[in-house]
Amino acid sequence: MAALPELGLVRSDELDDVLAAVGYDYAPYAGGTELVPAMGLGLRRPAAIVDLKRVEALKGIGVDVAAGSVTIGAAVTHRRLSEHPGVREHLPTLAAAASRVGNARVRSTGTVGGNLCFAEPRSDLGCVLVALGATAEVRSAGGARTLSVDELIVGGFETSLAENELLTAVTVPFEPTGMSYWKLQSYERPTLGVALVVSANQWQVTVGAATERPTRAVIAAGDDAGLADFVDGLEFSDDMTGPPAYKRSVLRAYLEQSLGAAL
Ligand SMILES: Cc1cc2nc3c(=O)[nH]c(=O)nc-3n(C[C@H](O)[C@H](O)[C@H](O)COP(=O)(O)OP(=O)(O)OC[C@H]3O[C@@H](n4cnc5c(N)ncnc54)[C@H](O)[C@@H]3O)c2cc1C
Repeated sequence: MAALPELGLVRSDELDDVLAAVGYDYAPYAGGTELVPAMGLGLRRPAAIVDLKRVEALKGIGVDVAAGSVTIGAAVTHRRLSEHPGVREHLPTLAAAASRVGNARVRSTGTVGGNLCFAEPRSDLGCVLVALGATAEVRSAGGARTLSVDELIVGGFETSLAENELLTAVTVPFEPTGMSYWKLQSYERPTLGVALVVSANQWQVTVGAATERPTRAVIAAGDDAGLADFVDGLEFSDDMTGPPAYKRSVLRAYLEQSLGAAL
């Protein structure tokens, strides 16, 4: 039997220490719900893992009423997110989506940052955060930058983070009225997720899970042809959760029902 390769561990309470360590061979490790299986399958072979779990600076949740936003540390777990009173009050759709992620083990150990940085397409959080117009705070030992979550997730299992960068937090504007999130899920992960923000004159539609990355469109309310064009233009994945034609027809039916549109 082949011996397991040695694996290093970098562990500190200080954000600066973990920032100094992160790099191509030094993989950030939060809950490990994606990283550990990926390593087991040989898809990731870091020389060391950099443990983020002890870094308090990555675990805060702050409500800024004056700014109308909530800042969520990258190492906040789905469970904590879904139970936090400020998140439940100001971001009820996000709290509800987090409460329904995977299973109890994944919700207790998996984190917001791990979800976004792994960029597995079949995610609820990415879709809801793109719909909310959330921004990602990113740091490296050399500096910091802010980008939208839409810009962070560039494709399936692909982000715009450099190897030495960490996602430290996401800042999420308070939820607008008229927001909802619905998902179709037959397996452990969502097959299709749809976030809607509906007002008298506008439909904002964000589709996730069934596409490589969350895709958002803003369409004038009642513009059924514009909505049909958006749905027809989406590239749906072809995987064990179903063929593209199935996902497109479920999306069409959901939008017809929830928006009263004729597609
Ligand atoms: C059985 C199962 C069911 C699931 N169901 C759902 C579901 O229904 N809905 C849904 O949305 N998701 C679902 N997920 C995905 C789940 O949300 C993620 O597995 C979890 O959030 C990942 O977080 P983690 O802390 O465990 O990440 P880790 O495994 O620790 O890390 C994942 C990746 O991100 C990198 N990383 C982690 N944190 C950072 C950071 N701060 N900065 C930079 N890179 C970082 C790691 O290096 C690694 O590459 C499911 C997962 C499983 C295993």
